Amino acid sequence: MTNRSTLALTAVSMALTACALGGGQQNSTADLPQGLWDAHTHLTWWGPDALDSLTKYGIVGVRDLGSDAYTLAKWRDEIAAGKRRGPRILYAGGQIDGPKESTQWRTIVTNEAQARRAVDSLADLGVSFIKVHNKLSPALFFVVLRHAKTRGLRVAAHLPEGVPAWVAADSGVGSLEHMAESILMSPVYAGHKMTAMKETADWWFSAAGDSMIARIARTGVAVTPTLAAYQEFAREKGASEQVHAGRMRTLGYQKQLVLRFHRAGIPILAGSDFADKDWTVRPGSSLLEEIRLLQEAGLTPAEARAAASTNIVRWITQKP
Ligand SMILES: [Zn+2]
Repeated sequence: MTNRSTLALTAVSMALTACALGGGQQNSTADLPQGLWDAHTHLTWWGPDALDSLTKYGIVGVRDLGSDAYTLAKWRDEIAAGKRRGPRILYAGGQIDGPKESTQWRTIVTNEAQARRAVDSLADLGVSFIKVHNKLSPALFFVVLRHAKTRGLRVAAHLPEGVPAWVAADSGVGSLEHMAESILMSPVYAGHKMTAMKETADWWFSAAGDSMIARIARTGVAVTPTLAAYQEFAREKGASEQVHAGRMRTLGYQKQLVLRFHRAGIPILAGSDFADKDWTVRPGSSLLEEIRLLQEAGLTPAEARAAASTNIVRWITQKP
C-alpha cells in the first residue's frame, strides 16, 4: 500500500503547518518486454480490469509492490498462456510491515524470527522482490534486508519510520518509494526536529542535503517518486484552500528533488501507485501523468521515458 491513508498519516505525524518474469525466476533483460513499465502498482487492490487499462495505454510490464501473490500468479500464467490480456507482472506479493490497522495483503512481523520467516515464505512463493512498509520497525527492516539478500531478492521500501534514506541506501535497499514520505521525511527520521514540510525541503536544499544526495548516489539505489499519486492527494476534494496550497508547494519541492537526484546519477523509476478504485489514481493514465510530471521536473522526454522503461527493466534484473 499506498497512498492516501499513508499520506494522511504522514501529514498527521508531522503536524504539517503547510498542509497540516515470473516470480522467482532469474530475469534477464532479454526475457523482459521492451516498452512502458509501471514501477509501482497494486494490481489486486484494483482488480483484473486494471490489466485491460494498462494494455490500452501500451504498458507492457509492471513491478507490483503489494498485492495478493496467489491471484497475481494466476493472472501471470493466464497472460502467458494467451487466456488473458495484460502486461508482464513481476511482484513482491504481500508487503512486510509492522502492526497497523489495515493488514490486507501484508505480513505483520514483530520479531526477528517472524521477519525471516516472512521473507522465506515469499521467496518460496516465487516472488521477484520484497516490499516493506512504514510501520516495520527499523531493527526488523535490517533483518529483512539481510535475509532477503541471502534469498537473492532485492527490497523495495516505503521507508520504515525512523530509517533515513541514506541509511537504508548504505544498507543495500534496492529502491526507495515515494519522494514525499521516504525522502522528504528522512531528516525527521534522522532526528531533526521539524514540523513543516518546508523545513524538510530546506534541509534537502542545504549543504547537508547535497552530501546525503551524493552518498545515496554512490549506493546505486533507485528512487520511485510517485509524483502523480501525490498530485491526486494534493487535489483531494474537501481539503481547504490553505491545505491544498501547502500540498501543491510540497509537490513543487518533490519535483526539484527529483531533478537533483537525477542529476546526481540516481536512477529514477516511474511508478503510479494505483491501488483502490475509490481513489483517483487510475491504471494506465496515471503512469502517463507521472512521465509528464518527470518532464515538468526537468528530465528530458527521453530521460522520463527511460524512467518508465529501461530503468525499471534494469532494476528488475539486478541482484541485491
Ligand atoms: Zn504503494
